[in-house]
Order: sequence, then C-alpha cells, then structure tokens
Amino acid sequence: MALFPLEGPVWQWASTRKLKAEQKAKANAEAANRRATDVQMLEDAERLIAAWNERQTICAPMIFSPTIGAAIAAGYWFLWVRCPACRTINAIDLRTLDRHNDAAVTSLIPALSCWSCRPNAPFAELVRLSRTSIADEMREEHRRRAFEE
Ligand SMILES: [Zn+2]
Repeated sequence: MALFPLEGPVWQWASTRKLKAEQKAKANAEAANRRATDVQMLEDAERLIAAWNERQTICAPMIFSPTIGAAIAAGYWFLWVRCPACRTINAIDLRTLDRHNDAAVTSLIPALSCWSCRPNAPFAELVRLSRTSIADEMREEHRRRAFEE
C-alpha cells in the first residue's frame, strides 16, 4: 500500500530540489574550505616571504625561495634587485612578468642582469620582496622629510 507515489512529477520535483540543495550545500562547503585554504596560504606566504627577506638582508645562503605566485598573492609585487658591479637598485613588478606563477623568484636572476653593465654584467642580487616600488619609497621618504621640517 503506497501512500505516496514514488514516481511522478511531484516526487521528481522534490527529488530535484533536494539534489539542488545538496549540490548548493556542497558548493558552499567547498567555497568555505577554499577561503580557509586561501587564508592559510596567505599566512604561510607572508611568513615565508618575511623569513626570506630577513635571510636576504643578512646575505644568508639561499636555501629556499618564494614563488612568483605566492609573492603576488601576498601583495609583495616588487622584487628589489641590486647590480653588484654598479650598486644600482631596481624594483621589478612581478605582476608584469610573463612567467609561470609556480617558478621561484630566484629563477629570474639570469634575466635581471644590469643593462648599464652589459655585456659583462654580473648576476643581479635579490635584495628583497616588497609591497612598494622604489618610486613609492622615495615619495614616502620625501613626505616624511617634508613633514619633519
Ligand atoms: Zn650595473
């Protein structure tokens, strides 16, 4: 004795609705998971970049390098490089490069040799990853000085 038809339009409608709700819940859970992963990834990237910058400051041997993608995601868009010959410092905007995001920032070294020192330019030294360009820093420095006077 069936009290409710197991097949037919009403059942199918209810079943479709349930399926859609389940799919939506699953998608929501996945999105929440992804956000949590993103937050974790950003925290990891920040910590890793800070550690890397610190090692670069003290000229510690290179034992790891952040990826271009991690630096961009964490907002460290600028890679500051120095020419060991003429001491010129330049900042490369990582967002403008046509490189794979999973490549380490150190993979850029051969392409970053100083133009003024060519053809015998030594390999560029990586100074640090920064949230600001050199122009930004100079503007900030200028503002600080103007403010102090
Ligand atoms: Zn140079």
